[in-house]
Amino acid sequence: MSQTNYPEVNADRLWQRHMDMAAIGGTEGGGVHRLALTPEDIEAHVLLAQWAEARGFSVALDPMGNMFIRREGSDPSLAPISSGSHTDTQPYGGRFDGITGVLTAFEALETIDEAGIETRYPLEVAIWNNEEGARFTPACMGSAAYVGFKPLDDLLSRTDPEQVSMRDCVADLAKALPQADKRELGAPIAFFIESHIEQGVRLEESGNIIGAVTGMQGYRRFEIEVIGEDAHSGTTPRSRRKDAFVAATDMTHALREVLWDDDDEMRYTIGRFEVLPGGVSVVPGQVNFYIDLRYHDKAALDRLAIEIPKICEAHSGPCEVRIVDAPTVDPMTFPEDIVTGIEAAAERHGFGHERMYSYAGHDARHIARISPAGMLFIPCWKGISHNEAERAEPEHVAAAAQVISDILIDRAKS
Ligand SMILES: [Zn+2]
Repeated sequence: MSQTNYPEVNADRLWQRHMDMAAIGGTEGGGVHRLALTPEDIEAHVLLAQWAEARGFSVALDPMGNMFIRREGSDPSLAPISSGSHTDTQPYGGRFDGITGVLTAFEALETIDEAGIETRYPLEVAIWNNEEGARFTPACMGSAAYVGFKPLDDLLSRTDPEQVSMRDCVADLAKALPQADKRELGAPIAFFIESHIEQGVRLEESGNIIGAVTGMQGYRRFEIEVIGEDAHSGTTPRSRRKDAFVAATDMTHALREVLWDDDDEMRYTIGRFEVLPGGVSVVPGQVNFYIDLRYHDKAALDRLAIEIPKICEAHSGPCEVRIVDAPTVDPMTFPEDIVTGIEAAAERHGFGHERMYSYAGHDARHIARISPAGMLFIPCWKGISHNEAERAEPEHVAAAAQVISDILIDRAKS
């Protein structure tokens, strides 16, 4: 195909849309505070719907509060070719995480529409509800519910710290968009691609502007309780102590030795460590801590998932150790033809590109359970994300939209 078959996206329009969105929940520090389905996030959905309707695109909502913007194809019976991400942010987050994936997808649909290109498949922009998991847990709730990975009723019953339920928030969203069609959860998707800022420094360091994402890390988490015995810190000799802090720190040191890899690919983190009862003159009788272990190799993760409890046991001394919970997500790989499709589109437009792995989780992970799916990254300044200082360059955002537009055309035409 020649270049003329791939119309050029409108970089100025796309940037302006980013700035319009950044104003909704915009902070004094130049970031965005727009937690899932707050009035601000609902306003962002409404603005997107207005832009969609101005183009003649339709809008639909599913029971989990995911929103879909659709440009009909010549065969409406076909499942859509889709792209998108999320509108919600972390508390005092940035102007690009999530929304770039939504706006590049929307720009692609506008570009294709303006060029008068007829597609056989419908084209859609997907806005997945509550990706960040900041107001309601878990993260990636919308895409997880859509593909049936987690039950709808359970997720709708989740509440925020003010005891407002997700169910009520989804009802508020539906009320704000009375014109929206209804979409079933799990309705087939023929293809999905998500663009996102990298949230790391690999692209910035290489000077490339498109990262063709090959796969996503999996994780194993362990919620661990170490049970000892509260005792007087002055009168209790070592021989009689059951010090949960000593046992827990022995475990974490031993784990650090085992989980140390020279190529720095395995990510071992203890982000929470509670010492109880917390009296300065009490030998602690209990410690709760959480291990977050991320890696790309499922076999290695499976092996470590068996080893970690044994290591904890071996270093528990006079204390008892209990694994309270151990959630698991396997690493995943995106289909090779989608990765090469991203590379080909980047090549066509002269965008430097490289393959890379995703160290963060994204909605595309869930959508890949029901549809061929892929992801691309663009650089983000100093890798700073989940921060008001988050920044992406206009030409990089436009490059993402261009690659998405090309790929949607290729996938939707025949
Ligand atoms: Zn995101």
